[in-house]
Amino acid sequence: MKVWNRLSKTVSLREAATAIFGLSALLPLLLLVAFLSRHNLLLKLEAQLSILAALVLAVFGFVALRRMVDRISSLVRALEAPTATDATGSAGEIPIPGLGAVAEIGQLRDFLARLLVDIRSSTERLEDLVFKIGTLNETVELAARIPELQDLLALVLERTMRAVRGTVGSIMLLDRDRQKLRIVAARGVTDSVLADVELRVGSGIAGRVAQHGDPILVENIESDPRFAKDHHPAYGGGSFICMPIRVADRIIGVINLARREHGMPGLGGASSFTPTDLQFLNALMTYVAYALDNARLLEEALQSAKQLREVVQDQELRLTVAQQQMVQAEKLESVGRLAAGVAHEVKNPLMILLTGIKYLSKRLPTEDDSVKQVLEDMSDAVERADKVIRGLLDLSAPRELDMKLEDLNPIVEQSLLLVKHDLDRGQINAIKKLEDNLPPVTLDSFKIQQVLVNLFTNAIHAMPEGGMLTVKTYRRPPGGGGADDPLADVPTPEGAVGVEVDDTGTGIPGDKLKKIFDPFFTTKPTGKGTGLGLSISRQLVEMQGGVMDIRNRAEGGVRATILFKLQEGGK
Ligand code: ADP
Repeated sequence: MKVWNRLSKTVSLREAATAIFGLSALLPLLLLVAFLSRHNLLLKLEAQLSILAALVLAVFGFVALRRMVDRISSLVRALEAPTATDATGSAGEIPIPGLGAVAEIGQLRDFLARLLVDIRSSTERLEDLVFKIGTLNETVELAARIPELQDLLALVLERTMRAVRGTVGSIMLLDRDRQKLRIVAARGVTDSVLADVELRVGSGIAGRVAQHGDPILVENIESDPRFAKDHHPAYGGGSFICMPIRVADRIIGVINLARREHGMPGLGGASSFTPTDLQFLNALMTYVAYALDNARLLEEALQSAKQLREVVQDQELRLTVAQQQMVQAEKLESVGRLAAGVAHEVKNPLMILLTGIKYLSKRLPTEDDSVKQVLEDMSDAVERADKVIRGLLDLSAPRELDMKLEDLNPIVEQSLLLVKHDLDRGQINAIKKLEDNLPPVTLDSFKIQQVLVNLFTNAIHAMPEGGMLTVKTYRRPPGGGGADDPLADVPTPEGAVGVEVDDTGTGIPGDKLKKIFDPFFTTKPTGKGTGLGLSISRQLVEMQGGVMDIRNRAEGGVRATILFKLQEGGK
C-alpha cells in the first residue's frame, strides 16, 4: 500500500532516475549473481571480477545519470525563474548552476512564452468561433418561431450584440416608398435618443450602406475622416460596424453595432470589431433577414386588416345613422302631410270659435263671474289648439329662411327678454356669460330666437321649484373644443360660434333621452307640452348649417348646445 501511495504521488526527476536506474542496472546484476551462485560459479575468480566490473560500471553510470538529472532540474528551475529583461526588452542570459550563464536558455524560454500566448489566443478565438456558431444556430432557430416583428428584432439585436461583444446597437428598417431608414430596435442607449432617428437612403453611414449594400467596419469612427461627420453621437466613439440586411438582392434594412467590449488583454481582446465579427454578422443576417421580412409582411397585413375592419365598422355606423335619419325623415314627412290636412280642417273652425267667444264676451252680462270664467277657459283652450296647429304647420311647411350675417349675443339677449316674465314667476335666476367680440354668423335671427325661447321654456318647465338658467356664448377654435366638449366629434375646420343653455332642473331620464327629438314626444301634462318644440328646433338649426345637442350635466340638470359653423374667412 505504501509503495502504491508513493507511486501515485508526484515524484521528482531525481527520484524517478534513481528508481529507473535501480530497475535497469541493479536488478539484472542481482539476477546474474543469483544465477552464478545457483550453478556454483560464484567462487570462480573470473566471475567475481566481472561482477565487480559490472558493479563499478553501474556506480559510474549512476553518478553520471545523477549529474545529468541535476542539470536538467537546474535548467527547468531556470526556465521557471523570472526573466531579467535588459533595456532593449530582450531576455538576458540565465545562469544555470554548473553551466554558468546560457543565452539559449533565455531565448528558449521567450520562445516558449510566445508559443503559450499564441496557444491561448488561438484557444480564445476558437472559443469565440464556437460561441458565434452556437449563437447563429440558436438565433436562426428561434427566429423561425417568433412571428411578432418587435420581439424578433429585440432577439436578433440582443444575440448579435452578445456574440460580437457590442455594447450599443440598433436595427433600422427601410421604408421603400419614402426611401427612409427608421430605427425599429435599439439597445445600449436610452430609447428616446434614437427613437425619432430617420435617415434618407444615401445620407449618413447607414443610409450609404443601405444604398450600396456594402458593409462598413471602422476602427475608430470619431477619428476616421470618411465617417466622423455622419456619425450619430449616441453610438459613442471607437469601433463601428454597419451591415446591410438583405433578402435575396433586396435590402430591407441595416444593423449598427458600436463600442466593443474589451476582452482579455493581449489575447485578441481588442476593443475593435474584427473581420470575423463581420463574417459572423453577414452569415447571421443572411438567415435572419427572411424571418424579419416575413414578420414585417405579417405585421403590415395585420395592420391593413385592422384598418379594413375600422373602415367597415365606420361604414356600418354611417349606414345605421343614415337609416335612422331616413326613418326620422319619413316620420316627419308623414307627420307633415297629416299636419297640413289637419291644419286646413281645424284652423278655420278654430278661428270661427275664437271670433264667436270674443263676440259672446262682449254681449253676455259681465256681472256673472261664472259665465266670464267659462268664456275665458274656452278662449284659452282655443288658443292652445291654435298653437298646436301652428306648430304642426311649422314642422311640415317648407320654411323660407331669411339668412343674414348676424351677431349672436343680441339674439340671445332678445330671447331672454321674451321669457323674462316666466323666469321671474318661476323664481329662476338667469345668468349670462356672453363672450365679447364673437365673429358674426350667417343665420335666420327670428328662427334662432324661436329655438332659444323653446330651450329656455323647457328649462323653466324642468325647474318647478326655481333654479338657475345659465346662457353662455363662446367661440370654438378651428381645432375643436376642449375635452368636455359634447360636440367634440363635429368637425369645424374654420371654427364655430356656440350657445350653451344650462339648467339646474330635473334632467332627462336615460331611457327618454333618445326620444326627445321625436315629434310629439313629451313628458309634460296635456296642455303644457306638444312634443314638437325640440324636433322643430333641431330642424331649424340644421337647415341653417348648425348642430344641436342635448344631454344631462354631471352636476344635475340639462345642457343644450348649438354650434354655428364659421365659413371660410371666419364667418
Ligand atoms: P315639449 O316641451 O312640448 O314637451 P319638446 O320637444 O320641447 O316638447 O321636449 C320634449 C321633451 O324633452 C320634454 O317633454 C321633456 O321631457 C324633455 N326635455 C326637454 N328639455 C328639457 C330640460 N331642459 N329638462 C328636462 N327635460 C327636458
